[in-house]
Amino acid sequence: MFAHTCTSCRRRELIFPSQVTGVETTEHGIVVSFTCWCDARQTMVTGIDAAPPVTAPATAA
Ligand SMILES: [Zn+2]
Repeated sequence: MFAHTCTSCRRRELIFPSQVTGVETTEHGIVVSFTCWCDARQTMVTGIDAAPPVTAPATAA
């Protein structure tokens, strides 16, 4: 269970595991998909790697 500010209803609500529809591990962290109390679909990136991706400078070949 975690708190999340919905991008649709703008309310900060507690999200319960029963509302979670998917969890996906990506290179940017763990992406949790869930449905808000207002029925809006939301996603949240969590985990220790939840940070903007660092763009590596292009190397000349
Ligand atoms: Zn909502």
